Amino acid sequence: MKCLLCRQNFSQNLTLAELLHWLPLLTDQICPHCQQRLVPITTACPECGRAQTSTERCRDCQRWLQAQPQQQLHNQALFIYNALLQDFFKRYKSLGDYRLRHAFNAPCQRWFAQYSADVYIPLPTDEQSFAQRGFNPVVGLYADCVPLTTCLKKRPQLVKQSHKKRQARLQTPQLFEFVGDPTGLNNKKILLLDDIYTTGRTMRHAQTCLKIAVPNCRLNTFTLAR
Ligand SMILES: [Zn+2]
Ligand SMILES: [Zn+2]
Repeated sequence: MKCLLCRQNFSQNLTLAELLHWLPLLTDQICPHCQQRLVPITTACPECGRAQTSTERCRDCQRWLQAQPQQQLHNQALFIYNALLQDFFKRYKSLGDYRLRHAFNAPCQRWFAQYSADVYIPLPTDEQSFAQRGFNPVVGLYADCVPLTTCLKKRPQLVKQSHKKRQARLQTPQLFEFVGDPTGLNNKKILLLDDIYTTGRTMRHAQTCLKIAVPNCRLNTFTLAR
């Protein structure tokens, strides 16, 4: 089959365990060479999921929590956002190559099997990006891995986030609106899903929005890259 990242042909090596067990067959869409270039995050900051040598909160998270002690996060990320992933996200999100949504299905499915939740909520895209791209990249990444519950809507933003300075981005008013039925989420273990964790601002906004709508849920967050 063809590697979704480098487009080279490769053959799939299924393990005996995969063939013998009643487990969904996880087909890797990434060749062994590209797999080697992916850096899985093993030891991380418990708050933002940043790869580091200790399991203490990183300096950015310490600083953030001093200012906003209510906004504790528990984010886990699969891979370090390196050149390989930058190139992947450029082709997937900026150029809108929808076929690439399957690239990380196998590692994500393995992760979700280990750290399962009751409800999986993808972060929404704004209407303008959706119209330009024709799909929500977060839904694309995870739709074949876990059942998704869509209950957040992005509020229209006047200035595009990437054009704002970091400080201005962090102070932006609430980005999301809850549009689902909160009763089904009561007392549930919820995993909020995004593609890349950068400043954490988006995740914190989504978390705050959800916690207001469903105060008694247990909330963690997950991103493919950090
Ligand atoms: Zn490859
Ligand atoms: Zn951190």
